[in-house]
Amino acid sequence: MPTPDAGLLLRGGRLVTADADGPADILVRGGRIEAVGTDLTAPNAAVRDVRGKIVIPGPIDPHVHIAWPYHEARTADTFRSATEAAAWGGTTMVIDWAVQRGESLLDAVAARRAEADGAAILDYALHGTVTKVTATLRSELPRLHDAGVAVLKLYMTYRRRGIMADDGMLWYILNAARDLGYTVSVHAENPFIHEWNEAELRAAGITGAAAHGLHKPPIVEAEAIHRVIYLAREARCPLLIRHVSTAAGVDLIRRARAQGAEVTGETCPQYLYLTEEVFRRPDGYLYICSPPVRTDADRLALWQGLADGTLSVVGSDHAAFPRAAKVGATAFDVPNGLPGVETRVPLLYAGVRRGHLTPSRFVEVVSTAVARLYGLYPRKGAVLPGSDADLVIIDPEEQRALHASSLHMAVDWSPYEGMALRGYPVTVIAGGRIVVDGDAMADPRPAGRFVPCPRRAPSRAAPSLAASPAP
Ligand SMILES: [Zn+2]
Repeated sequence: MPTPDAGLLLRGGRLVTADADGPADILVRGGRIEAVGTDLTAPNAAVRDVRGKIVIPGPIDPHVHIAWPYHEARTADTFRSATEAAAWGGTTMVIDWAVQRGESLLDAVAARRAEADGAAILDYALHGTVTKVTATLRSELPRLHDAGVAVLKLYMTYRRRGIMADDGMLWYILNAARDLGYTVSVHAENPFIHEWNEAELRAAGITGAAAHGLHKPPIVEAEAIHRVIYLAREARCPLLIRHVSTAAGVDLIRRARAQGAEVTGETCPQYLYLTEEVFRRPDGYLYICSPPVRTDADRLALWQGLADGTLSVVGSDHAAFPRAAKVGATAFDVPNGLPGVETRVPLLYAGVRRGHLTPSRFVEVVSTAVARLYGLYPRKGAVLPGSDADLVIIDPEEQRALHASSLHMAVDWSPYEGMALRGYPVTVIAGGRIVVDGDAMADPRPAGRFVPCPRRAPSRAAPSLAASPAP
């Protein structure tokens, strides 16, 4: 009878990584990858025949909101249920937010860890959302690394909720982050334009689901992306634009990168698959998220941006609001966010089937580039001797249709209800444990660990936009 220490040998599969695609056996022992090669043998190891299957390094979701308060509402999951759902969908690690609620961000990190430790079944990390530059926050900034935080987030909107970073605060944090070795990420929307539009729409009595898209047209995102790229470039601070939703946003990032700026973008499955048509549905209010989903042309520009490297990562922006929570007097009052931690990897794999991404690029955007962004490569995002044994086995012939009733997120609806997929994660290995195996949750123990993100290498000097010729 094989023992856990004797190891697990995955034999005969097709290993797809960000830079390779071919047959390989993989030996897992002691929670790590021990060997990768052809015709591996390991006496006493359990052997699993994975011929005909695709093996990939464990996908990491860089954008989830687990147990997240939103005004009066709160998402319906816990670190336990959300990481279980993530595992069912072929994710082996999630990165959630510690949001500064008062004076201190370190307190928020500690509070979040208290929620997750002993609950998460998968490894997790935290990034820090700065909502106010207090004296405490200033004193904590040099010490966030010690708490495992390497990526910060600022909201360029939500002025009325009191969490917006205005241009002064953006400039301050971008400069501090450059000196201290943090990457800054932003939610890029111009609040003044969408608040103005909201007032006009309310006055005209237009407050149904479609009003959500109408009050945040592409300029709301594009202007904010344009502005923050300029500021980050002048500050020489690495920048990630969260949940890019527009073709205009992709173009701005592509142009800045061509000029040497250290900027990249994240997008989410909802922007790759859904369009504003959803707001015409009777249940259109369910689809309210920010930024809003857009047009078919935007959707295709985002796939192109992912394929050509303008956008580097895909996060789910998971927010598990059940139907009963997605309510409000008007579209402007409905809690924002869609459930998605379980469907991110299957939907991106479908992008391979549909010709949007190569298999290796798929692996890169759901796993390897995330690990690199957070300084976790090659512990995560790789299948190399010494890497954590986080592996997902995809059956390319597995046929599944997405239904809320058979998904595992703490919600009673899915934005992709009824969508048929060919190819699905069927076995999920996290830290060497087989967590999901076919139809079974094989190991629901809350053995997920907090993974501290290390300080990144010093930023390369980027040229000033003001000094470069007009594009
Ligand atoms: Zn988010």
